[in-house]
This record gives sequence, structure tokens and C-alpha cells, in this order.
Amino acid sequence: MTLKNLVFATNNRHKLREAREMLEGKIHILSLADIGCHDTIPETADTLQGNALEKARYIKAHYGYDCFADDTGLQVVQLGGRPGVYSARYAGEECDPEKNMQKLLGELDGENDRRASFITVVALIEGNDEKIFEGEVKGRILTERQGGEGFGYDPLFVPDGYEESFAQMGNETKNRISHRARAMQKMKEYLLGR
Ligand code: IMP
Repeated sequence: MTLKNLVFATNNRHKLREAREMLEGKIHILSLADIGCHDTIPETADTLQGNALEKARYIKAHYGYDCFADDTGLQVVQLGGRPGVYSARYAGEECDPEKNMQKLLGELDGENDRRASFITVVALIEGNDEKIFEGEVKGRILTERQGGEGFGYDPLFVPDGYEESFAQMGNETKNRISHRARAMQKMKEYLLGR
């Protein structure tokens, strides 16, 4: 059986590995390097869906491949849903995860309500068709970092129903329950269920 090829329009190697693990044996995922793309892909929208579409459309328009892109935001209840679509640049344009976590800990210092959600929007483009898939995981923000795996805000986020942070639980578990896993699972069902 030949697997369907799809480009994942991301420069994040963690996301690429996650997606390959989730879609293994079903869909063959090409990286941007695989298609010779070393561009800085624009991400200028003010919504997750807008950014995901912008990234996927860029690859389709410039390289011609069927592809998908994701955009993720961390929404913290006590912060009125911030940092949301600005999660990467929360503590500045350098998109430094350490500084982002530091800022988040500072903003939530002394707060009891630490509820938060990760939300991922995946935009898939096949030919002229565009589809959107969403995934969400609810949880809470710790008062200090725990764990050394994963990326981004993983050391501070404990999903509901678990005691360990995303950075402690290992890829296998994170890839089953995460925001991106849920969005990707919907995409997988759509692609394979036809
Ligand atoms: P983007 O989707 O790559 O733009 O991610 C937005 C922000 O959320 C960045 O700061 C990422 O590091 C962070 N982020 C995205 N996905 C995850 C995740 O699965 N765990 C923790 N942080 C994430």
C-alpha cells in the first residue's frame, strides 16, 4: 500500500516527531527540509485558524504540495484567555520558552485559579480543498516547572485527570491526549475514512 504524502508546514522538530509518531503507517509526513523549503513562513493572523491557514497556504502556493499546518495557543482562565494566539511571543519576539514560562509563573503568582487549556487548530490543504480540525486539552498551570521532556510550556502544564506535567509523562501518553493529538486524530479520521 502506498501511503499518502503530506507536508507538515512546521519548523518545530518536536511537532514533526509527534505527528510522525501519531500518523505512522497511515500517512507519510514530509518535512519542510524534505521539500527544500528553508523559508520563514509568515504567521501574521490574529487567530489560530488564520495562522494555520496562512502557513498551509504558503506551502501550497510556493511549493505545490498537499500539506497541513498547525497553530497552538495556551489559554489561561485567570488571564482572560491570554496568551492565546500570542503564546509563542508572550515574553517577547525571541519566542524563548524559558522566558515565556517565567512570565507565566509571574503573572499567576499567588493565584489559586490556575485553569488553562491548550488549543490547536490544524489546517489541511489537499488540491483546492481546505479543511480545519480543532483539538483542546484542559488542565492547570503548575507553580514551578516539572519534567525535562517535550517543549514549550510542557513543564508547566498538567492535563486534567493526570498528576504529571506534559514534560514528565513521556511522548506516548502526551501523543494520545494532547490538543495536537486530538486535532491530528480528527484529520487522520477524515483522511482515512473516505
Ligand atoms: P505554535 O503553534 O508553534 O505557534 O506555538 C505557540 C506557542 O505554544 C509556542 O510558545 C509553543 O512553544 C507553545 N506550544 C505549542 N504546542 C505546545 C505543546 O504541545 N506543549 C507546550 N507548548 C506548546
